[in-house]
Amino acid sequence: MTIKIATARERAPGEHRVALVPETAKKFQALGASVVLESTAGLESHFMDSSYEGARFAPHLAGVYDNAELILRVTPPSLDEIAEMPEGAVLIGLLRPFEDKARLEALNARRITAFSMELLPRISRAQSMDVLSSQAACAGYQCGLIAAARCTKFFPMLTTAAGTVRPARVLVIGAGVAGLQAIATCRRQGAMVEAYDVRAASREQIESLGAKFVDTGVSADGAGGYARELSAEEKAQQAEKLAKAVAQADVVISTAAIPGKKAPVIITEDMVKRMQYGAIIVDMAAESGGNCALTKPGEHVIANDVNIHGPLNLPSRMPTHASELYAKNLYNFLSPWIKDGQLAFDWDDEILNGTLLCKDGAIANAAVSQAMQALGEA
Ligand code: NAD
Repeated sequence: MTIKIATARERAPGEHRVALVPETAKKFQALGASVVLESTAGLESHFMDSSYEGARFAPHLAGVYDNAELILRVTPPSLDEIAEMPEGAVLIGLLRPFEDKARLEALNARRITAFSMELLPRISRAQSMDVLSSQAACAGYQCGLIAAARCTKFFPMLTTAAGTVRPARVLVIGAGVAGLQAIATCRRQGAMVEAYDVRAASREQIESLGAKFVDTGVSADGAGGYARELSAEEKAQQAEKLAKAVAQADVVISTAAIPGKKAPVIITEDMVKRMQYGAIIVDMAAESGGNCALTKPGEHVIANDVNIHGPLNLPSRMPTHASELYAKNLYNFLSPWIKDGQLAFDWDDEILNGTLLCKDGAIANAAVSQAMQALGEA
């Protein structure tokens, strides 16, 4: 018996990605696995059923999950979907581990071994599996495109018969994976870009992309290469120095995040009031509350003639490449554990252990366990 890998159509509204693409389906089969997809699972990413060589297709969820041992997903499964999963199956996806106690209970009731790719340790050996990075690159790129499309000015400098046009001024706040991609995308389109991050290492990365570093004098490196939350004094110092750069910008793209926490509010209502009429803010942090105090997740609001965009699920706007990268990350995560068509995990492995969310009917991650206890007590 070889291991059966199953992928159903994503059902979350607006989700166009798929966790298994033709290339990775072929690679899993080369490891001896069999592959089953729900009919049209790849369609919205523009992967037709016919392009999945050697895969089987089932028209309904029940047929896809029948005897499935390894289930690949992008978004968390609904409670109804979990009910269709075979007891003891292994599930891998972006499972939003801190959000939904009922979902975790349902997974544990069916003794599903669940890996949540958000928990993947960000060590060198795991870089090829890092879905947060691959999807953040898509999101940052999309921010750069939205900014150029919505801006009422040219991004590049233009010399025309009617006169010279100055390039647009873009400010990028937060220069992690997404922010750096947003900087590169705006630079490629010819904009003048300034950027800011609280991590000391970001200065060199920002400058290497041809952007100017905005120095606020606040440095807040935290554990694991991430930023830490700022103190009240640091926040005030940051706001004072950033306000000028925000006021001068035609476009502000904000991507600042603290893992597992609400996004820091960096652009205050007062800063928006001091922005130029017609300026735009693309707030990539909208998903976790927003970096601008006036952002409404998933909406476009206008305040003081400043257009504030709070787009959600940006990688899904470019589902073909986002799915390809995501699916390759999953393949790189799983392939070391599939030999001769059999799945054999080494539970001493740091990456497997770090990514594990549920096992043997219980939550396996200490931080998630703590968060769920706190939810229960609230
Ligand atoms: P993230 O999505 O958690 O945060 C985005 C950015 O917001 C970060 O750069 C952070 O420093 C910044 N930020 C937080 N608070 C801020 C504030 N108040 N003002 C301005 N900026 C603020 O981060 P990310 O993009 O996932 O990556 C964070 C770091 O991890 C980077 O150094 C990245 O290079 C590193 N990383 C390492 C690996 C690896 O080794 N495998 C993989 C990916 C990323």
